[in-house]
Amino acid sequence: MASNPMQFLDLPRQDPQKTPAEIRIHEFGEIIGQFDPATAGQQAGRCLACGNPYCEWKCPVHNFIPNWLKLVEEGNLFAAAELSHKTNSLPEVCGRVCPQDRLCEGACTLNDGFGAVTIGSVEKYITDEALKAGWRPDLSDVTPTGKRVAVIGAGPAGLGCADILARNGVQAVVYDRYPEIGGLLTFGIPPFKLEKHVIRTRREILEGMGVEFRLNIEIGRDIAMDALLEEYDAVFLGMGTYTAMQGGFPGEDLPGVYPALPFLISNIRQVMNWPQEEGHEFIDMADQRVVVLGGGDTAMDCNRTSIRQGAASVTCAYRRDEDNMPGSRKEVVHAREEGVHFEFNVQPVEIVGDGKVEGVKVVRTQMGAPDERGRRRPEPVPGSEHVIPADRVLIAFGFRPSPSDWFADYKIGIDEGGRVQTAGEHAFQTGNPKVFAGGDMVRGSDLVVTAVFEGREAAEGILEYLGV
Ligand code: FAD
Ligand code: SF4
Repeated sequence: MASNPMQFLDLPRQDPQKTPAEIRIHEFGEIIGQFDPATAGQQAGRCLACGNPYCEWKCPVHNFIPNWLKLVEEGNLFAAAELSHKTNSLPEVCGRVCPQDRLCEGACTLNDGFGAVTIGSVEKYITDEALKAGWRPDLSDVTPTGKRVAVIGAGPAGLGCADILARNGVQAVVYDRYPEIGGLLTFGIPPFKLEKHVIRTRREILEGMGVEFRLNIEIGRDIAMDALLEEYDAVFLGMGTYTAMQGGFPGEDLPGVYPALPFLISNIRQVMNWPQEEGHEFIDMADQRVVVLGGGDTAMDCNRTSIRQGAASVTCAYRRDEDNMPGSRKEVVHAREEGVHFEFNVQPVEIVGDGKVEGVKVVRTQMGAPDERGRRRPEPVPGSEHVIPADRVLIAFGFRPSPSDWFADYKIGIDEGGRVQTAGEHAFQTGNPKVFAGGDMVRGSDLVVTAVFEGREAAEGILEYLGV
């Protein structure tokens, strides 16, 4: 119980300071600041310690939220960090990028008119500050088992898996085709949501725990799966989903139309002073009228990156209404504050232009009956076509699975949508008993926290399979 269980009545919810929009649109650093210890303790102390903490159930990794909030209130930072890492391999990342309004904070009892506890910001505070103060995971009582597991993909799923393996005395060797770890955390999510030093620090922590990273290696091209199956006791696949969805309307191949991910990656490389990927160049939106098609997190990242690059205007065109947007509410708020103009209930039917983009032809929509996921379907209104002028168009319709052509050779089955099937005897085991999989490639494009969860669960399955 909080020392004053009614603290929430006297103390309103307070978020960490946010850099004002007029300043942050000129820089790429994170926009959300950090609590000082006193404010972190006070905000944590607003928790009611409900008997049945809905926040824990709604959190995909089932964090012990009320327990670590209490430790923060008591100023016991290291114990909070220890507890936080019992359920989450990347708490400092999830605290930054989880859509808390849809998850833990959305389920907080105080949402009933008092303002949810700032769970995400406290979670970030705990790990950031504990690491700064010298806390490190304690693996002193871990006995090496002599087992070795190859992890393909250094994204949240792979890192979650490696974390649990290391904590159980299994040597995890993580391969990634990219030069840095993190997957989409590094080469996808922009630095104004997640600065890249956070991932560098996590790499140091994991290496300190005995995890080995082998980067710039693509499995299936530089090393064959056969070699991994021979060398290791098991293999985990956490390879993500990388097939960009297209609209299927005319004009998508006009010069000036770009898929979201190459745009975001080219910007991150530019900001970080990293060389551009071979065959790719920096995509610059300075002085351009940009139209972003889509309404999810990737679309918001495209909007806000274009604003920071100095676009003349940024319009986000989405086919449903605001209530039916798939992404995080807080990101829509941020985008609006930064000057993004939203056009709701418009569906693109053509990208128009003569040799280059000149605009996006859209048709107005009205909201129809809910689809199988409960979101109302957009229905075109005949005769409502009009053109939104544009010099550049970014397509952010999401990602489909990208199964490798070698999966079938190793009895790694996929479903009709291309997702890897994991219905083996052990958690997240594929059709090949030695191969496990998790994250976006299994569930389809989703969230960092669900990928972490699946990586961790798969590691438990691997431990069971290995009998350790
Ligand atoms: P990934 O992060 O995609 O990692 C897969 C890794 O596997 C990559 O590093 C890749 O290089 C590597 N790999 C693939 N094939 C091979 C191979 N053959 N050999 C070696 N390595 C290989 N989620 C949130 O919760 N909050 C957000 O705000 C958010 N914003 C997002 C913004 C963008 C622009 C995008 C694209 C996604 C966003 N997401 C967000 C979703 C989130 O990033 C993903 O759900 C999550 O990263 C999936 O983790 P993963 O480990 O399954 O895959
Ligand atoms: Fe909330 Fe995400 Fe942290 Fe869970 S991991 S407590 S959902 S911010």
